[in-house]
Amino acid sequence: MPAAQLIADIVVANHILFDQGVVDAFGHVSVRSDENKQHYFLARNMAPSLVEAGDVLEYDFDSNAINPGDRRGYLERFIHSEIYRMRPDVMSVVHSHSPAVIPFSVSRTTLQPVYHMAGFLRDVKKYDIRTASGQMTDMLIRNHDLGVSLAAALGSAPVALMRGHGITIVGTSIKEAVCRSVYAEMNARIQIQAMGLGTPVEYLSREEAELAEKANAGQFDRPWELWQKHAEEIRRGK
Ligand SMILES: [Zn+2]
Repeated sequence: MPAAQLIADIVVANHILFDQGVVDAFGHVSVRSDENKQHYFLARNMAPSLVEAGDVLEYDFDSNAINPGDRRGYLERFIHSEIYRMRPDVMSVVHSHSPAVIPFSVSRTTLQPVYHMAGFLRDVKKYDIRTASGQMTDMLIRNHDLGVSLAAALGSAPVALMRGHGITIVGTSIKEAVCRSVYAEMNARIQIQAMGLGTPVEYLSREEAELAEKANAGQFDRPWELWQKHAEEIRRGK
């Protein structure tokens, strides 16, 4: 896909993720370059809902921006570079502080699929920056080594839940990464509601989750178009 299309998709993805309550003033989404598989695109350091095409930077695998001018990068861009380096199958990465998933990052309750739209949550890895780095930090993935430790914790899974911080979700396309991020937030909310009913929750079995994930794999265009339209309507109304 040409760079201009990938950049246009990043702009839409940022607007969707804000409109769907996955990101607020913080959080970011990237996509791997098709022309140079060791480069990726990511917005400059700014609120996702305000991102336009001119705000999107191209980065190398050391998270150095190509031609940044006076545009400053996100502190946590190492999340993206180190996952792309370690996972050739990953084409897009979303990092957010998605509010409903945070309780699962700080408790022993496992975030897992309560409904079919979130089958990919059958494999959620937990990442604790204190254990990974062996020291107290400000919780941010602000350098290469921390990026490596997060990518290692993610392994071959689609989701890494980061204690006291947020979540990082990958996909084989930007639409998949965005859809997973929205449905992870929804599943977390629904799971908390189901647990509040006071009786044991019947989660999707591993096999059900895998089958549901396969069924959803070709369906990303539908929510993407809906969410894009809604996000654009809201933006036009401003
Ligand atoms: Zn963060």
